[in-house]
Amino acid sequence: MTSTDAGVTRAIGLLGEAHNAVALTGAGMSTESGIPDFRSPGGVWTKYHPDDFSYQKFTTRPDSRARYWRWGLEFFPTVRDAQPHAGYVALATLAKQGRLRCVVTQNVDGLHRKAGTPDVIEIHGTALEVGCLGCGKRWPRVEIHARLEPEQFDPRCACGGILKPCTISFGQAMPKAETTRAYQEARRADVFLALGTSLVVFPAADLVPEAVEHGAKLIVINLEPTPFDGLAQVVIHGKVGEVLPAIVEGLQ
Ligand code: NAD
Repeated sequence: MTSTDAGVTRAIGLLGEAHNAVALTGAGMSTESGIPDFRSPGGVWTKYHPDDFSYQKFTTRPDSRARYWRWGLEFFPTVRDAQPHAGYVALATLAKQGRLRCVVTQNVDGLHRKAGTPDVIEIHGTALEVGCLGCGKRWPRVEIHARLEPEQFDPRCACGGILKPCTISFGQAMPKAETTRAYQEARRADVFLALGTSLVVFPAADLVPEAVEHGAKLIVINLEPTPFDGLAQVVIHGKVGEVLPAIVEGLQ
């Protein structure tokens, strides 16, 4: 681990030379915007079991769909109302300065777009929309929530298809175009930033060795160690909402 000040200085040095940086963000990017991550104390997996949210269960069991929508009623308003913090603004600034090419995010909360980052690749989908598993039609999630009946948590499309939030569930195929592009961008990156992600969710975490093997310098900013810290030039154990603005300030 690098001490925060020394780490920030080294990250400024790497990003000062970058023209093609790529960031991979995870749930830790949004905790300072009030959205809990999954694995920290109090995170989602302390209240629910991942298996409850598998694609297989969602598509085959009405009781599982009902549980999922009920959880959505609890979780979604937080996502809908969340606002990007200073770390998000800092990343958008790096993009506008021409240092950061794009952000690959595991998050489903739309905060990078809200912050004005122009090129965002959402490899785990978005929680802000709902799609029909039959015909593929999509709606803003707020519209579907507004018509959810408490006794009937199994909304359907006019075609009869099951409706599902457009997030990628356990056991569901990753979106092909987004995943392909994320790998391409990782391979082209001169600096790769892993931000607020435990790097234990695959294949997203594979982007890190992919980038490093193709020549990227790696910067990890996370509250706790990750399995890929050993590949990094800079590891900062701190909050993205504090560290990223400090880096951008140092680049001015
Ligand atoms: P994770 O929950 O596994 O890990 C988050 C990491 O971020 C942890 O290691 C934690 O120590 C760190 N962290 C927390 N707050 C931080 C902060 N302020 N600054 C720096 N680091 C911080 O998250 P993951 O690796 O992204 O994987 C979980 C999966 O859950 C992802 O696939 C993601 O799609 C999904 N998810 C998304 C959201 C969201 O969209 N906001 C929220 C929860 C989970």
